[in-house]
Amino acid sequence: MRKLVVARRASQGIFFLLFLSAILPLGRLLPGLSHPGVFFRIDPFIMFSIWISERVIFSGLWIPLAMLLLTLVLGRFFCGWICPLGTMTDWAGALRKKERVIAERTNRKIRNVKFYVLGLAFLSAVSGGRTAWGLDPMVMVEKAAGTIVALVRHLQPYVGALYGFSGPTGPLFPDTGGYFPPGSEALFSVFLIVCGAALFVPRWWCRMICPLGALYSILARISFLRRVVAGSCAGCNACVKNCRMGAIRDDGSYAAGECILCMDCVYDCPRSAAGFTLRRGSTGPGQPLPRSRDG
Ligand code: SF4
Ligand code: SF4
Repeated sequence: MRKLVVARRASQGIFFLLFLSAILPLGRLLPGLSHPGVFFRIDPFIMFSIWISERVIFSGLWIPLAMLLLTLVLGRFFCGWICPLGTMTDWAGALRKKERVIAERTNRKIRNVKFYVLGLAFLSAVSGGRTAWGLDPMVMVEKAAGTIVALVRHLQPYVGALYGFSGPTGPLFPDTGGYFPPGSEALFSVFLIVCGAALFVPRWWCRMICPLGALYSILARISFLRRVVAGSCAGCNACVKNCRMGAIRDDGSYAAGECILCMDCVYDCPRSAAGFTLRRGSTGPGQPLPRSRDG
């Protein structure tokens, strides 16, 4: 049984429900969770952008700092185990018929784009801009959910008249204050593109564009938890083909900053040669061999 993969999927499902409960007033069932702000507070990209653009230091700044510290230990766990947009692109990717492998050289080039996006977003924040709000994955999912709720509410009388039912009203489908909440149309379109394109290229947004992922990636490069491959590796490259982030290189080494700890490669290996460890220097005979962590 792929225990770690099951645990990751369970975590993604639970955090996705928590995120939805923060957006929809399901949060009333879980006091203190009825506002998306709860999630934005753990988001270092948004919090640092506000800090830079508004010159305001929030009392809860330790929360995003703690997220960064955890990333320094574990790597990009947020991307693989928590992020609602990452979860949705994984779900969309599950419908993919054929795995698409992007050449290592291309992969290396495209994944650098997200660092420029991150840099531009912070530059814009310096001049008081709010570019971060148009690029953050959690804002995007929030706006998409708001748009869907607004659409349901808008269409409900027409559909109800056609089929003779009053439709889903009440606490689950709140009045979002207008047909579309502000800024939703554009972000909803981007959201559809992100999920739609994930049907063809796994996690393309996470590999290439996401500034929050870029921020985590910088720290994950030097994270303590690292992928190791034992000497029994047969070099079949099954893990290279299946890695959804294109993080594993043809020579078996991996880009720690790109790995989102999905744990697939641990189970994809027919010889059970791959794993993750916090131990350093375990290179003796029969022991796991640490691989390159750069990039
Ligand atoms: S790269 Fe961005 S969108 Fe993808 S999982 Fe990480 S934070 Fe979420
Ligand atoms: S290196 Fe392994 S754990 Fe990391 S993203 Fe690729 S398949 Fe997942």
